[in-house]
Amino acid sequence: MTLQKTEVLIIGAGPIGIACALACKNQDLDYVVLEKGALTHSLFNYPLNMNFFSTSEKLEIEEIPFISKDPKPGRDEALEYYRRVVTSKKLNIKLFEKVLSVKKDGDHFIIISEKNSYLAQNVIVATGFYDIPKLLHVPGEELSKVTHYYKEAHPYVLQKNIVVGASNSSVDAALEIWRKGGEVTMVVRGKSIGERVKYWVKPDIENRIKEGSITAYFEATISEIKETEVIIKTPEGEITLPNDFVIALTGYRPNFAFLKSIGITLSEDKRIPTYNDETMESNIKGLYLAGVICGGTETHKWFIENSRIHAKLIANHIFKKKRQR
Ligand code: FAD
Repeated sequence: MTLQKTEVLIIGAGPIGIACALACKNQDLDYVVLEKGALTHSLFNYPLNMNFFSTSEKLEIEEIPFISKDPKPGRDEALEYYRRVVTSKKLNIKLFEKVLSVKKDGDHFIIISEKNSYLAQNVIVATGFYDIPKLLHVPGEELSKVTHYYKEAHPYVLQKNIVVGASNSSVDAALEIWRKGGEVTMVVRGKSIGERVKYWVKPDIENRIKEGSITAYFEATISEIKETEVIIKTPEGEITLPNDFVIALTGYRPNFAFLKSIGITLSEDKRIPTYNDETMESNIKGLYLAGVICGGTETHKWFIENSRIHAKLIANHIFKKKRQR
């Protein structure tokens, strides 16, 4: 087995993995990024017409200007921005190369990917949380009419759709599908629309529900999904709704099994990985965490805006260690 050597191996080419690559490059550290999918794979899979809640300058990396048409950019503009950062800075990123394992071996790490093996002095895990949806765990969830990712309204037009959840993603999907001509029923576990829903969108959904354009069942859960109907549990009892599609946007979670397989310890309650918040080094020396992966089950805690800083903290720490050797 020939091992490719590097000072820093970064797992994941999302906005934060890219920020880490740039920070390493700026410190003259030898690095490589391995990404299992396309560049910014999570953003690529976002709804086509989504708008970020952040203004574009808050999504910038290393102060490289992010110019957008409106203050809050859309998916395409973000893809364009991160693409341009990567190509203009000639970042060393290998796409469609999933990391399968990371093992500490003395002072180094051995990383096995689908395509190669690497020997790295440091590893940065920036794998995000968008790959694993939180499932409903109800009969029928495996039917092809059920999705945990919303892309666009078109397939749902003239259809009877259930949107599960009341977060930003659910509300955006419900409004867009209804506006394009789909029938929308929301099934919401809580008592109301989520508190974190964008302040400029919340009145829109609440008014559509109040006027009866969109039906919402609160304190309700799905108990079974069938080919042509869905059974929901409500405070008033069980209801059977005729149904064509279920769009279950109940959130996502980091790959805890992967973190544990590397030896990263997780807190009992929220499964927050152990790290030093001044250096982002985990409980394993030389292994760092960056981006939204740091939040455990609290996936709302970290986002691009407030986690892009991780990149510099890590690169500075690695650079300092190098100077001291
Ligand atoms: P990701 O972008 O998820 O990147 C992780 C990468 O790691 C992925 O490309 C994945 O394919 C790769 N990967 C995973 N496992 C492996 C492996 N084993 N081997 C190799 N590669 C692997 N944040 C904001 O700041 N402002 C916003 O306005 C905003 N809007 C959002 C809107 C939506 C709809 C969503 C879902 C999120 C939004 N966020 C926003 C949050 C933020 O965009 C994401 O959380 C962001 O993608 C986090 O960046 P990241 O680099 O940490 O993780």
